[in-house]
Amino acid sequence: MKTNQILVRYGELSTKGKNRSSFIGRLRDNVRQTFSDLEQIHIKAERDRMFITSDDEQELAQVIERLPYVFGIQSFSPVTACELNIEAMKKTAEAVIAKIGDTEKSFKVSVKRPFKEFPYEKPEIMKELSSHVLRAFPDLKVQMKDPEIDLKVEVRKEAVYMMAEVIQGAGGLPVGAGGKALLMLSGGLDSPVAGYHMLKRGVRLDLIHFFSPPFTNDRAKEKVFDLAERLSQFGSSVKLHVIPFTKLQQEVHKQVPDNITMTSTRRMMMRVADLVLAETNCRAIVTGESLGQVASQTLESMQAINAVTHTPVLRPLIAMDKLEIIDIAQQIETYDISIRPFEDCCTIFTPANPKTKPKLEKVEYYENFVSFDELIEEAVAEREIIKFPRPKVNQFEDLL
Ligand code: ATP
Ligand code: MG
Repeated sequence: MKTNQILVRYGELSTKGKNRSSFIGRLRDNVRQTFSDLEQIHIKAERDRMFITSDDEQELAQVIERLPYVFGIQSFSPVTACELNIEAMKKTAEAVIAKIGDTEKSFKVSVKRPFKEFPYEKPEIMKELSSHVLRAFPDLKVQMKDPEIDLKVEVRKEAVYMMAEVIQGAGGLPVGAGGKALLMLSGGLDSPVAGYHMLKRGVRLDLIHFFSPPFTNDRAKEKVFDLAERLSQFGSSVKLHVIPFTKLQQEVHKQVPDNITMTSTRRMMMRVADLVLAETNCRAIVTGESLGQVASQTLESMQAINAVTHTPVLRPLIAMDKLEIIDIAQQIETYDISIRPFEDCCTIFTPANPKTKPKLEKVEYYENFVSFDELIEEAVAEREIIKFPRPKVNQFEDLL
């Protein structure tokens, strides 16, 4: 008896008609990259399901641990193989059910028998295996319709395959299937969660972070690096653009009245992001804004900020409550990084009374006294670019 294979069921992509093969190809590539450090792994993507095989037990354990983070997968099951022999099959069935742990459940055995020369017919196999399993686990109750445990048995020429455990996948679409967007990543709670939602819908990310030394320190930057690393675990690698923002921020504070510096600062961020976007094949800007959370997150404010660009600005969290966002941050394990107490450029420059309904004409009026173009271009040119690949096995374990 040997468990060396995982059967993977595709998520939503199964219904995507003509695009199906490219979606499956994308998922296969993402799975391949996720496990690029595992040497014995073999991946076979079929039309309806994917098989991941490795003869190394530790490698297979790694696959089971990391697979729930790969988008585009509905669920997966470890598959155990045994010889074509009814006694071996009984033992295997017992072992497969034992792995589930809780056996106070409804249960049935389903059999497929493509290898017709096997001496037992389907009903006999079902009977032999269920009575053996029921003797071993008396708490199980037989139920033919929608049982909690469905022990699937497939009798093939080379071996008998069995599986019962169904592990939930991450759902969503394979990362990269939906193109690429630029996420404005602060050190806060919201933007990493916004990024996670985009990745889940199959959108790859470049990240942009605005950094204002000496007002913000390296610990704040480190926080953003850790968040970038965490996001890179949900799909393909991510590239982080770190923008030196001090000069622009100081210029804004010189030019515009205190109560609209927030709006103007955000407009500068958008203009910088737009230039980076043009160089990176990204098609939208993503932010972690949520309506009403702070002064800059009112409809009036968003209108004034948005006026500097024609690029779609996506705000996946716009209608979510803070508590819902926190809940997801905890699930995706960005929460503990985000709450580290180092402040980003916005917190430090926040005026006492920012306008919740800034007037676009007023902001434009004050910004017009100087040309910000050069400072914006300079910030883009002097940016630092860091790539975050998926970390190696031992680092990954630390982060989980
Ligand atoms: P977050 O929790 O993401 O920091 P927030 O609730 O603090 O969000 P704001 O400070 O108003 O909200 O920022 C709104 C959005 O603007 C952020 O979600 C993020 O997308 C972007 N943003 C803010 N500051 C920065 C920064 N220093 N670098 C990159 N993006 C930023
Ligand atoms: Mg913030």
